[in-house]
Amino acid sequence: MNRKTYYGNYGGQYVAESLMNVLGELDTAFEEAIRDPSFLREFHYYLEQYVGRETPLYYAARLSRAYGMKIYLKREDLNHTGAHKINNVIGQILLAKRMGKKKVIAETGAGQHGVATATGAALADMECTVYMGEEDMRRQELNVLRMRMLGARVVSVRSGSNTLKDATNEAIRSWSETAGDTFYVIGSAVGPYPYPKIVKEFQSVISREAKKQILAAEGRLPDVVAACVGGGSNSIGMFADFIGEAGVKLIGVEAAGRGIETGEHASAMAAGRPGVLHGMRSYLLQDEAGNIQLAHSISAGLDYPGVGPEHAFLKDTGRAEYTAVTDADAMEALSVLCRLEGIIPAIESAHAVAYARVYAKELAERIGPGKAAEQIMIICLSGRGDKDVAAIADYRDGKGYLN
Ligand SMILES: *Cc1c(COP(=O)(O)O)cnc(C)c1O
Repeated sequence: MNRKTYYGNYGGQYVAESLMNVLGELDTAFEEAIRDPSFLREFHYYLEQYVGRETPLYYAARLSRAYGMKIYLKREDLNHTGAHKINNVIGQILLAKRMGKKKVIAETGAGQHGVATATGAALADMECTVYMGEEDMRRQELNVLRMRMLGARVVSVRSGSNTLKDATNEAIRSWSETAGDTFYVIGSAVGPYPYPKIVKEFQSVISREAKKQILAAEGRLPDVVAACVGGGSNSIGMFADFIGEAGVKLIGVEAAGRGIETGEHASAMAAGRPGVLHGMRSYLLQDEAGNIQLAHSISAGLDYPGVGPEHAFLKDTGRAEYTAVTDADAMEALSVLCRLEGIIPAIESAHAVAYARVYAKELAERIGPGKAAEQIMIICLSGRGDKDVAAIADYRDGKGYLN
């Protein structure tokens, strides 16, 4: 095994020996691709003409008044397929094509990354297989139907808890046998190196656009940038171009589920310990014996027991801060955004919106409401809420959770 970690104490390549060469080839191909103007031209062509970029940086005036600071929303919800995931999928699919691969595989939990990968595979005329836990297939039937409509094969995974963690293990296992002609499209800033780097690069379009847009709108950088954190892809994309700007505070918002103290949450940063999962070393939810624990969040996309290794590094170095928001507070913020701005966000994204209220309140106490109202926050609105309508209705009816 390669002992290099790449992100301080985190990251690495904890995979079977047979995959070490494959990861090396992937890294070389990626580094060549992102220096090749023709690759970049093609990537940006699809981002513009297919995904619909650039996405607006929308000044949410009514939300700003309600919360007491200037809030801009980076509208990733307006992308084709309804979230930020497609940015990364287009990049990885083009990389797969460039490497001469004919097939792609992917893991999926709620099905959002599966749908994005099936979309990209249809576009690029590639055979697509998506691994999904049996339990998740039952809970997310609509996304299973979408993937099949798009021509993907959905493989039901029956092991462990029959959810994302198990589907990811199965995808990695299958890849170790088929890597000759198959590309593994990873859906978040997780997995063995170089995946966290690749996903960050393809998602960093979010912050590159946002920086340009905020300078045009306000003539200065934001005071704070916030994004929800599942595996960490929309957040690392939202942070990327601001990491070098010391004056910009970076905040990642995890899911506190029913409350950190209940044990039913998905906050690897707040309650996890460093360990190894899915080819990487990072903060993970685990019991005393090191067994991975089940995560809980009302939002399926934040329901992951780990977090990407660069986030673990950013936390330890203090460059970014991580906090968590409960199901209840996220659902409250979701309603507020619906009513004040006419935007139905994904429940994942509503976690970041909920944190804006907490942050603005603290700020007003610290520097006074007048000064707080001048401070600028950008929130990554990672996705739209169409997929969550049934879960939202069930929650309001007091029927509990879909997941
Ligand atoms: C998948 C998903 C997330 C969580 O994934 P990250 O990799 O942490 O970004 C957040 N929001 C939406 C809308 C998603 O679909």
